[in-house]
Amino acid sequence: MQQEEPYGLVWFRNDLRVTDQSALQAARARHDRILGVYCFDPRHFEQTSYGFRKTEKYRAKFLSECVAELQDALFNLNISLIVNIGKPEDIIPGLTTEYAIAGVYCQKEWTQEERHVLEQVKASMPEQIPFHEYYDQFLFHPEDCPIAIPEIPEVFTTFRKSCEKYTAVRAEVGKPQQCVPENLLHETTDIPTLEDLGFESFEIDTRSAFPFKGGEIQATNRLIEYVFTTMKLGCYKKTRNGLQGTNYSSKFSPWLALGCISPRQIYWAVKRFEKEHYKNQSTYWMVFELIWRDYFKYISLKHGNRIFQLGGILNKSYDWQSSMATFKKWIEGATSEPFVNANMIELKSTGWMSNRGRQNVASYLAKEMKVDWRMGAAYFESMLIDYDVHSNYGNWMYVAGVGNDPRDRKFNVRLQAKRYDPAGTHQNQWLQKSLF
Ligand code: FAD
Repeated sequence: MQQEEPYGLVWFRNDLRVTDQSALQAARARHDRILGVYCFDPRHFEQTSYGFRKTEKYRAKFLSECVAELQDALFNLNISLIVNIGKPEDIIPGLTTEYAIAGVYCQKEWTQEERHVLEQVKASMPEQIPFHEYYDQFLFHPEDCPIAIPEIPEVFTTFRKSCEKYTAVRAEVGKPQQCVPENLLHETTDIPTLEDLGFESFEIDTRSAFPFKGGEIQATNRLIEYVFTTMKLGCYKKTRNGLQGTNYSSKFSPWLALGCISPRQIYWAVKRFEKEHYKNQSTYWMVFELIWRDYFKYISLKHGNRIFQLGGILNKSYDWQSSMATFKKWIEGATSEPFVNANMIELKSTGWMSNRGRQNVASYLAKEMKVDWRMGAAYFESMLIDYDVHSNYGNWMYVAGVGNDPRDRKFNVRLQAKRYDPAGTHQNQWLQKSLF
């Protein structure tokens, strides 16, 4: 009997796209038969000790939309995506007994929980199968970074200038070649509904500044709309501190966090815009912000688990408290500051908050209420559609005074409200009139 050709198994995690996807490209380059797998890990939906789930309904909905679009996109390449609710270490080894698998391909992760899962998967494999991991979430690839990881500067500007001067952003790798139709499995697996994940279905709040859906096509549409159709990119630097509406900032972050789009794709779209239209401070600033995103990834590569510790990467001690009553006031938007409350209610109602809002509420929790900043970071992790471990913990450390802010600033939330919400429009939108 003729032996069937083995599959390259692509294990999708936070890289839910088919274009400019290094693991998928590498697998396809080596194998004619490809199989994809995505696991909705129950640990991501567990209750935390703070009384909320590790992932709440907003990101759960967005994630399930992303996986649905991924399954369709792979189907168009004649590749099946097996989708399961279960721990990867329980599911992936089983696939290797069911199908002949020659290698596993995935995005390289380095934070503790993600590494632990990978190690568990490897340990549960019935036989030794090679794993191929690729850094694929960066603008500047770590192999091209001019600074060795242990030497990454603690000041952003030094890092940025060095990367801008000595590193080039790699070209996109495009879409992999289609497989033959016989590569598809006979059966398809269903994408879990919100109910399957333990949530009730819900409608998006009509006031949301992020009314978009998850998925690679949605991300590409947004990129085209923001950069080329409305050309909002051209005034980004002037509008980026806004609080309301879809267009004050790009809203790329949720798709970036789940890998529906790569930072390289955004970078090259900006470069195309600059060539076809014009170059200004705003077009530069979009790339500048993507470098911030990279920076926090490099900081977490350098410092490992210290980004999750109370003293942060500075190992600094302050007089923190962890009163649940105080923390709840912040969560519920019931502090004495209307600007903080409006932003917190927006987050609770939509899973979204502007960057300006995030800076203020984080500063207020850590520096006014003096609550353990990791409680705030855990709440953001639960609620944010765009939660990204490096950006979240990096920014929280920065604002809490245990990270990369050389000036250790505190936001004056009243002045901030006057400056960024002078007519109180944002506050009126989210607060009951009686509260404001
Ligand atoms: P734009 O202003 O359009 O910026 C374009 C892109 O640049 C963003 O999509 C994002 O990828 C990147 N970027 C912009 N600002 C930052 C920044 N300060 N740090 C890192 N990357 C940045 N961002 C996340 O993606 N996930 C998080 O979990 C997260 N948690 C945060 C927690 C706190 C306390 C703070 C202050 C900020 C946090 N941010 C986080 C950063 C920032 O608020 C969001 O990236 C931004 O608001 C997303 O909106 P946008 O895509 O419209 O951004």
